[in-house]
Amino acid sequence: MALGFLKTTRETKSPAHEARGAAHDQRSDRAVVLGEVEELGIGMFWATDAEGNLSFLSQRALADLGVETETLIGKPLTAVFSDIDDDAGGPTQRSLAFKLKARSKLEEQIVAVPTGRGTTRWWRLNGRPLLDADGRFRGYRGSAVDISSQYAYETQVARQSQVDELTGLANRRKLNERLSAMLAAFRVSQRSCALMMLDLDRFKQVNDTMGHPAGDELLKQVAQRLTSIVKDHGEVGRLGGDEFQVLLPDMDDRGTLGELANRIVQSVSQPYQINGRRAIIGTSVGIAIAPYDGVEADELTRAADMALYSAKETRGGTFCFFTSELRDAASKTALLGERLRDAVDRDELTLAYQPLVDPVTNEVKCFEALLRWHDEEEGDISPAQFIPVAENDDLIIRIGEAALKKACMDALAWPEFVKVAVNVSAKQFIRPGYRKAVAAALQASGLSPGRLELEITESVFVGDLETVDAIFRDLKKLGVRLALDDFGTGYSSLGYLKHGHFNKIKIDQSFVRGCTENGDINPAIITAIVALAKALGMETVAEGVEAMDELELVKARGADLVQGYIYSRPLSQEQVLAQFAEGNTLFKASGPPRHRAERITIFRKVGLIHEDHYYDVILRNLSKTGARITGLAGVPVGTDVVLDLGHGQLVVSKVVNATENSQGLQFETPLISDGGGGFMTRHRISPYSLAEAGIPLAALGAGAFPLAKWREANKTIPKFVQLELSAPGG
Ligand code: C2E
Ligand code: MG
Ligand code: MG
Repeated sequence: MALGFLKTTRETKSPAHEARGAAHDQRSDRAVVLGEVEELGIGMFWATDAEGNLSFLSQRALADLGVETETLIGKPLTAVFSDIDDDAGGPTQRSLAFKLKARSKLEEQIVAVPTGRGTTRWWRLNGRPLLDADGRFRGYRGSAVDISSQYAYETQVARQSQVDELTGLANRRKLNERLSAMLAAFRVSQRSCALMMLDLDRFKQVNDTMGHPAGDELLKQVAQRLTSIVKDHGEVGRLGGDEFQVLLPDMDDRGTLGELANRIVQSVSQPYQINGRRAIIGTSVGIAIAPYDGVEADELTRAADMALYSAKETRGGTFCFFTSELRDAASKTALLGERLRDAVDRDELTLAYQPLVDPVTNEVKCFEALLRWHDEEEGDISPAQFIPVAENDDLIIRIGEAALKKACMDALAWPEFVKVAVNVSAKQFIRPGYRKAVAAALQASGLSPGRLELEITESVFVGDLETVDAIFRDLKKLGVRLALDDFGTGYSSLGYLKHGHFNKIKIDQSFVRGCTENGDINPAIITAIVALAKALGMETVAEGVEAMDELELVKARGADLVQGYIYSRPLSQEQVLAQFAEGNTLFKASGPPRHRAERITIFRKVGLIHEDHYYDVILRNLSKTGARITGLAGVPVGTDVVLDLGHGQLVVSKVVNATENSQGLQFETPLISDGGGGFMTRHRISPYSLAEAGIPLAALGAGAFPLAKWREANKTIPKFVQLELSAPGG
């Protein structure tokens, strides 16, 4: 059914008929053009149903492949198209199955297609998930171009060479060979090796707006920055496109690796000069370590790739270590996306308002609107978790505009001098039409523009900065105020403060929390930011103030406003109105006198080793330096134990306080931050030493330290009483 045959004859009568006829003509004209595009071999079209089975393929494509329609239609897309052979030297890409599962867009995905003649063709696919009016997934719609001749040539050239022509770095082929050789050799000498996978954030934007030569120039500069950071600690290579890789022999300290990844992110995120224009991009980094996360090259590569995907998903501009939980991260994201869409349809998202208080007078000056989502099954889901998922498609636009409207309406009921701050996702901000949405929200509510503040993060400054500047100017014309959120994290470039776009800077929580502890670096940063803001005529806000000593410090350093639990947690509109109804515009500071080391409250079953016994305990909270456990009785203070946090993470600890059935543990070596708000050990138990104990050499699994066998062999009498555990999902 080539689309060209759908053309109908023109017939016009009444005006209404005419209009209908015109629409019809448009449609049939389109069909003709599409048919012609196919006939000329410029492009082909394909579609899947909601189950991912091929439901349409251009006639021309079928003819070219020399196969019957019935042999392909109805088959899973992954059975029709297969991923290109990893070793062929072509551009790198995440697997097709992976992307389909995550319902990601397909961009220039190269696949191999078997023909009916027993040969292979290579196609470049583009495609998007199609959603119906209710937002249900209806399948993919896409196009394809046959690139077989070009592809065969390129792979042949790549096969012959070891360097990436553009950057002079090692190419994919060389990196693969190096990795395989290294892992084989290291296995014998029991050495470790880390693999970092990098993907530039929003490189495509630069390429699209500034042109391919500019994109090439940018890649060269990125390559230079990477080599100057990695030096001779490892080997940097370019896999193709905007993906780079770093191979680091004898590295398994996750603390050191995290620091290195951080430096890479910071360096790549500094502005670039390209033909006299400025551009900014970011990068995400995924890290996997052999033999812990993979013993073979492809296993390790896949692990690093999954970590990279997760880093990109969370917010970009970060790094992420592989953990075995990431294996089903893609389907989890797709699931969360569906639930979120349902929640939005049912209008279940609400807003909470957290006060920004003048620390001198204790008067509230502004409320920040924060999204809240309570899911029946999962409980409260943090916006930090669902906003990135919404950003995957246009859902963020719906959510963002609804929040903006609601916040403007709610603010109208507050005293005149109290402003409202609304968070804006970068995706929302850089979209044409955002200015209109803001104007509409103001008009609908009647809120005066000067009372509305838009909170933007540094991530809007990417791609071509001139375009971004124009958006800012447009918004300022409306009379709204702009605040730079989370200042000091991520891209951290001062350049864009000079343009005078912002009325306010919000100093990120990470500088504020615990600022009275670790030396004087954080207070110095706070002082510097406040001074800079004053010089440029901007207000400052200290975010995340929880303890009295932190409040005193930020007040003394001159922060204009304070936002944090010290004054109030986010409140409902009802609570806000109730307080204003009493004529009360003050908030009282109350909280612990000093900052307490961050403790994450958890309820998770873990293991505890004492002498030659393995017990099950429940982890109640965890900080860098210690933990509280329950589930054992009669453990005296001073006992040396080993906590098993799973994934090969063993923590040597001492019991420092104890009640009847709960113990406080202090760790011999502090944990480190995992880059995503959690903690992890620097080192893990090596699969090499497990192998020596008779456990076959393999990457570490999800479960606890594989001591089950050993545990069964426990013959001595346990020293402590194991209590009944009732951890959910234990
Ligand atoms: P943010 O804009 O930096 O908001 C501040 C976050 O810090 C909020 O988390 C707030 O509850 C939390 N916070 C405030 N004071 C304290 C404190 O003293 N201690 C601690 N531990 N936390 C404090 P929340 O509500 O989970 O929001 C997280 C992020 O999600 C926000 O960070 C913002 O980036 C994003 N977000 C929230 N609502 C929206 C929205 O409507 N649109 C968009 N695009 N993003 C949103
Ligand atoms: Mg904010
Ligand atoms: Mg913030």
